[in-house]
Amino acid sequence: MKYDAVIIGAGPSGSFCALNLARKGIKVLIIDKCSFPREKACGGLISKNAMDLLKRHTLTIDINHNIINKICLIGKNEEQAVIESRTPLGIIVKRKEFDQFLARKAVEAGADFIDNCRFESCILESAGYKIQTARGNFYADYLIGADGCFSKVARASNIRKRWSKWEKGIALCAHVPDEYVVQKRVNAVEFCFPDVLAGIGWCFPGNNYYNIGVGGTVFDSKRIISAFKLLLEKNMKDKKSLSNLKYNAAFLPAGGRFRKISDKRIFLLGDAAGFVDAFSGEGIYYALRSAEILSDVINQNKDGREYEKRCYETFLGEFRLSAFLSVYFGNKKHVFQKGMQERFLKAICMIMTQTPESMRYKKVFDCLITGGFSFNVAFLWLKRLILD
Ligand SMILES: Cc1cc2nc3c(=O)[nH]c(=O)nc-3n(C[C@H](O)[C@H](O)[C@H](O)COP(=O)(O)OP(=O)(O)OC[C@H]3O[C@@H](n4cnc5c(N)ncnc54)[C@H](O)[C@@H]3O)c2cc1C
Repeated sequence: MKYDAVIIGAGPSGSFCALNLARKGIKVLIIDKCSFPREKACGGLISKNAMDLLKRHTLTIDINHNIINKICLIGKNEEQAVIESRTPLGIIVKRKEFDQFLARKAVEAGADFIDNCRFESCILESAGYKIQTARGNFYADYLIGADGCFSKVARASNIRKRWSKWEKGIALCAHVPDEYVVQKRVNAVEFCFPDVLAGIGWCFPGNNYYNIGVGGTVFDSKRIISAFKLLLEKNMKDKKSLSNLKYNAAFLPAGGRFRKISDKRIFLLGDAAGFVDAFSGEGIYYALRSAEILSDVINQNKDGREYEKRCYETFLGEFRLSAFLSVYFGNKKHVFQKGMQERFLKAICMIMTQTPESMRYKKVFDCLITGGFSFNVAFLWLKRLILD
């Protein structure tokens, strides 16, 4: 069957791109290797930024969600710092439901969707791309890789073979029912700072559950696992309920370098392109924004160079600053020193509510760096990378 565009992967980037292309009258197919709805390891925090972007495309999130208007930082000795906003800072969703919602919207807009269908390889023929899948061949003028961190499209098209260790993060999380969790503030996302390089721990209140997790660089994988166990135990009323929980883990690529993300009429989106903020771990906004940029580029009949140029004009500066900050703050031990907590609260608010176009990371950088730096961090990285 011949399409204008075939998209591999029905995560936020793939489905949102399909929706935009279908609305422009472009004949589009999405395939996903999983049976939908499917689980996805994620904190489920959709920032105000991402919500505004969806609203611009007249999408109202009509699934279960919980509105967030507070951010709370928890220190090592349980000290706390809180900021409250009069307007929502974001929402917490279950990714299984959010991704299904976006895929449904894409289909309603006219896209075809085949789940349980694994992409295998692609061949450029005179009439376009021949796309080989576990359920037969499809043909398209454009091939879009929205297939996550370990994109097979990137490998099959020689755009990228693998990530270096420096570019990869790993995160673990669990959905914990309300009744298992010690009492918490309502509508507040909590962040804590375990002894993990470039890492963060979180506890996000969903609708009748909490999403608890820890993420950081793959160099610190062992510490991430133990910090995750500790964080769960700290937040549970009774440790015995731990055995009832289901854990999820996934890798995430960090933005910060200029990388090839397209080739002729093959394009990579979201995690497949490495569009994750290394400092905050946010990826959904970039997944949606890269999909928005690509659908414009295809609609204007432009090629991969235009897509690459527009993405990097929008994201590269901010990814560089966020990667720098994640290294600079090490394991963020000094968040509760020298009044830094107010600066961190302000910075997280800016990341959740302002767009890359408003140079938000420049403001975040100014806000955090003027707070002072501990040289211990440089020694900490050296010790972890060389001696541990
Ligand atoms: C633990 C964790 C917590 C996170 N928390 C947050 C958060 O709270 N907020 C936030 O903004 N970001 C968060 N992120 C990042 C966010 O999850 C990703 O950036 C986002 O999912 C990227 O969307 P995507 O559409 O590019 O890829 P994905 O969501 O990974 O979707 C890729 C899709 O491709 C499919 N696929 C893969 N290979 C194939 C193949 N060969 N054939 C067919 N289909 C294929 C997969 O089944 C999947 O459905 C978190 C990440 C992790 C790991």
